[in-house]
Amino acid sequence: MAYLITRLCIDCLDRGCVEVCPVNCIYQHMGEPTDGRPNMLYIHPTECINCSACEPECPWHAIYEDRELPAVFAGDVAVNAQCEADPRAFAVAVLQRDGQGRLLPKRRPTADEVAENRRKWEAP
Ligand code: SF4
Ligand code: SF4
Repeated sequence: MAYLITRLCIDCLDRGCVEVCPVNCIYQHMGEPTDGRPNMLYIHPTECINCSACEPECPWHAIYEDRELPAVFAGDVAVNAQCEADPRAFAVAVLQRDGQGRLLPKRRPTADEVAENRRKWEAP
């Protein structure tokens, strides 16, 4: 079993999950975003140790354990798995820093923004 990042992460990317993952199994796509490889992060399905540390760190509630994944996000299982299937196109996600190496502050979404994002992607 593993955790998954759903499309609720698209264009949010604050990387709170990356900060806490103990095994660095959260990846970013190195090319331009496409429909099949959107601008989000990806959890490696076999490197994930199912520790659950990332899930409460996501302000957009985009992370689920696979056995609790809502049906509307079923397609995101294959989306995440691409970082295992095509490793040359992905790299371990890194935290965003400014030109002097300082971590960039994270933007915390409001409750309304989180709710709107969930409506947009038809999350239950
Ligand atoms: S469940 Fe643990 S190991 Fe898996 S992605 Fe989240 S923090 Fe990393
Ligand atoms: S914390 Fe959530 S929204 Fe932020 S990068 Fe991770 S999965 Fe995406």
